[in-house]
Amino acid sequence: MVLVENLLELANDILSGRRLDTSEALELLATPDDKLMELLAAAFVIRRHYYGKQVKLNYLVNAKSGLCPEDCKYCSQAKGATSEIEKYSLLSANEMVTRAEQAVKNGASTCCLVISGRGPS
Ligand code: SF4
Repeated sequence: MVLVENLLELANDILSGRRLDTSEALELLATPDDKLMELLAAAFVIRRHYYGKQVKLNYLVNAKSGLCPEDCKYCSQAKGATSEIEKYSLLSANEMVTRAEQAVKNGASTCCLVISGRGPS
């Protein structure tokens, strides 16, 4: 794990033109958990270089919330989950369009429609 010994130095090297080969990229992906904060800091150096403090706003419309027949144990929308969430059936097409328009009005460049369940019914 030589590559992850000094991640800030690596970030600056990359900004100076260094490119990772495949094995180095794989090594970076396998960065140990105890180096996570250093990895984030190094990634931020590169991000700040290219984007400053700009953010890209993505907007998520939950077009069907809860009421899922599946039982994924981690999910608040699963059958039998006791989380206090809004539960409603699939929104109408007009309501989805309205919410997407709100997203654009609020500056979103991407609007995703998601639903609980394996697929639309
Ligand atoms: S299918 Fe999706 S919405 Fe349903 S319980 Fe699993 S993760 Fe949650």
